[in-house]
Parts: sequence; structure tokens; C-alpha cells
Amino acid sequence: MESKGTRIGVVVRVRPFLNKELKSGCTNDRIEVNSDDKTITVFSDQKQQKRFEFDEVFDESISQEVLYNQLKLDNLIKKVIEGYNATIFAYGPTGSGKTYTMEGYDYDKNLKPVLRDELKLGLIPRLVKNLFEEIKKAPKHIEYTVYCTYIQIYKENIYDLLNPAQIKPPGLKLRWNQQEEFYVENLFMHPCYSANEVLNHYNSGLKNRITSSHNANTTSSRSHSLLTLNIEAMDSETGSILTSRLQLVDLAGSEKVSQTGNEGSALKESIEINKALFTLRQVISTLASMRDGEASFVPYRDSKLTSLLKPSIGGNSYCLMIACIAPLDSFFDDNLSTLAYATKAACISNEPIKNIDPKTKVIKELRKEVKRLNFELKLA
Ligand code: ADP
Ligand code: MG
Repeated sequence: MESKGTRIGVVVRVRPFLNKELKSGCTNDRIEVNSDDKTITVFSDQKQQKRFEFDEVFDESISQEVLYNQLKLDNLIKKVIEGYNATIFAYGPTGSGKTYTMEGYDYDKNLKPVLRDELKLGLIPRLVKNLFEEIKKAPKHIEYTVYCTYIQIYKENIYDLLNPAQIKPPGLKLRWNQQEEFYVENLFMHPCYSANEVLNHYNSGLKNRITSSHNANTTSSRSHSLLTLNIEAMDSETGSILTSRLQLVDLAGSEKVSQTGNEGSALKESIEINKALFTLRQVISTLASMRDGEASFVPYRDSKLTSLLKPSIGGNSYCLMIACIAPLDSFFDDNLSTLAYATKAACISNEPIKNIDPKTKVIKELRKEVKRLNFELKLA
């Protein structure tokens, strides 16, 4: 049976103070997390308070492993294996812990991603491992292939992080396919048969992400990265093929970029950088304010990011938003804005559907037709 009207899951994670912040005497007087109630309260200077409630709220003590387990991501992986699409995206200002949550690697002197501490592994490597563990448990007559792609969107250009020839402008084009979905043309899709194969590609993509930028920190906080695992399951007994997609997204920092003193090309640049997030917020706001059955124009096509996330937000995928915030005073406005959009996203319903390869559908219809004709022959 198809599940209908599944809300986008929304959780909040508050990152801890970093050592340098503790040394400079930072304290948290503004954010109060109540994980049991699943609420977060934010206090302003005037001691006014705003309370938000989400599916889960994680405080600074939550480890990467506990986060993974509490989000029950093994259940999501099972859904993906069954043929459903799923998306997880991290949203929040720069420095709030999005990349730590999704990725969890450190970098050595040569900017090569290294894992110094297993415990720090982010959601992406854990999901990849979990996916292949589930594949191993599947019946022998189902053959799985996982195709991995990894792109970066920066200033409305799409770069293929798994193809060194495509990490410079102008980047790749977005196209529209027969299933009425946007896709990136000429993207490298690497077939993978183990978690290590995926993670090796992912690591080389991470390295390309950094070497492709003049200023690594600025570009990575202003660009969006999308790692996609396309899963194909072929049943050798029935010939049917199930395809599904797991999309893991580390968004650019959602902070308000000051436009003071920004003129000419600098202003154009900041508008372009913000276009995707601006459109994402418009998409979220429009969908959140739509009533059941109401048709409204949703501006997905206004940015490459929202075009690619169309099935994930208000579409046919399962979706989880991880809103990240930091306990510093300087993050106050951006934290509030993040929590406000997270609240809106939690009102959006998706309708997850099981993907069946179009060829499988045709085979099924032909079999039905053969049955019908056989029946008619018998009657004749
Ligand atoms: P973003 O990707 O949102 O810009 P980062 O993931 O780069 O933010 O995090 C900013 C800093 O905070 C990094 O030094 C990161 O290692 C650290 N950090 C973030 N979240 C945590 C956490 N939950 N525990 C420990 N350190 C964290
Ligand atoms: Mg980041």
C-alpha cells in the first residue's frame, strides 16, 4: 500500500561551543533545549522568549552515533531499499554544524579528508555503510547496483565533483526527463558494490570541492553539495526493476549576507549566491501556507537547487530536514530565522511513492494483456 501525506520530518541540532569559544568566555544564556518535550526556547535581550516544537531536538551533548540512532535512519534506509526516494538536508547559518553533522571528516595538510576519530563520523558515511548492510541481507535473486553522483552548486553553476574536468565554470546543464523530473546532464555516475567504493568516490569529491575553490571556506559555506545514491534493484526471477534515490544535501550557510557596500558585480554575486536559498525559502513558505487540495504556484524552477529538490519538498520522497544552530549570541538572528523556516517546513506534506522502473511497468502491462487475450481465446 502506498503511504500518503507523510510530513517532512524536522529536527534541530544545537552544536556545542568550540574550545576557542569557551576560552573567550562564551556562555549560553539564550537557548534552552528540552529534548523530552522536543522543544527549544530562544530568549532575546529583553528576556522575551519564543518556543518552538519539532520532531526531535538535540542539544550539544548528542554524539554523532546517538544522533544517527535517534533519527532512526536505519528505517529510512529500509524504505530506500524497498524503492522509495529519500532526502536528508542540513539547513542553518555558516558555522552551525551542517557539515559536521552530514560529513564529520577532518582534513590533513594536503586537504585530503581524513577520519581522525570513528566516533565523529557524520550521517553520510553511516548511511552509506547501513545501506550496504541492508543490501547484504536482501534475497539472492535481487541484484543491487548503487550509482553514486556528487555535485556542487555555486552561484547557479553545477559542478561534477566526481569529474575533475567539470569542476570549473560554466558547469553542467539541468534538463527535464520523461518522468518529469529535473536531472543534471552528463553527470558521472559511478557504479558501486560496496560502502568503501562509495566512500572513496565521496572522499575524492570532497577533495575536488576544496581544490576547485579559490577560498575554500567561503566557497564551501556559499555552495550547496548534493551526494546522490541511485539504487537499482533487479529481480532476476521476475525481471522487475526497482529504482530509488537517496539524496544527501549540505546546504550553503543560510545567514543574512549584509548588502552594505555591495555594489555592481559584488552585489550581483551576493544575489546569485543567495538565489538558491532565497528560492528554497519561498518554496517552503508557499508549500507551508497551502491548504489541502489547493493549487498554488511553487517557484521550484527559479533556482537549480530547488529544481533538483522538487521531488523532496512537496513531492514524492521521504524528507528529513536537520536545522542546525549554534549557541553563540552572534547567531541569534540567524538561529531565529532557521527555526522559523524549520517550523514552516514541518507543515509540508510529501506523498512518497514506490518507484517502479518504466520498463517493469510495461512488462507488467504486457503480461496482463497476454492473460486477457488467453482468456478471450478460451471463450472463443
Ligand atoms: P557549517 O557546515 O554549518 O558551516 P561546520 O560543520 O563546519 O558548520 O561546524 C563549524 C565548527 O563547529 C567546526 O569546527 C565543527 O567541527 C564544529 N562542530 C559543529 N558541530 C559540532 C558538534 N556537534 N560537536 C563538535 N563540534 C562541532
Ligand atoms: Mg559547511
